[in-house]
Amino acid sequence: KIENATAKAELGRASWHTFHTIMAKFPDRPSGEEQTALASYIHLWARLYPCAECASHFRTILAKYPPQVSTRSTAAAWACHVHNEVNRSLDKEEFDCSKIGEFYDCGCADDDAGKEK
Ligand code: FAD
Repeated sequence: KIENATAKAELGRASWHTFHTIMAKFPDRPSGEEQTALASYIHLWARLYPCAECASHFRTILAKYPPQVSTRSTAAAWACHVHNEVNRSLDKEEFDCSKIGEFYDCGCADDDAGKEK
């Protein structure tokens, strides 16, 4: 199968969007279990990401910069940093991580999951 750069980039944009939105919704003061869940998610994402070359490259970045999951802001800053590492390797512009705060909005209300809206 030949490479389809458009599909690969589209997958990347969708994946980064979900990734950063998860960080933006992560608790300010996560429980130990929540921290473990996020770290597991990140490692499994790096293992299962469908573009094999991308996943392999990202695992090298993860080995150098292990997930930071102690608070929402450290997780968001860490995610911004590792995305910038990928940007750098692809000769893309660096994102200003001081602007990460309100950038990713899930569009959902801050209520308990599953409750009527
Ligand atoms: P993207 O990098 O997809 O970013 C989307 C949007 O996110 C940007 O427009 C900007 O608004 C915002 N953004 C940019 N940087 C940051 C940041 N640091 N923090 C927060 N938000 C930011 N492609 C390859 O060709 N080779 C690879 O090895 C490769 N590895 C990848 C590894 C992973 C884990 C992922 C998720 C994707 C990978 N990709 C790879 C895809 C690549 O990163 C891009 O998603 C794709 O090239 C499309 O780029 P883009 O310019 O539209 O912006």
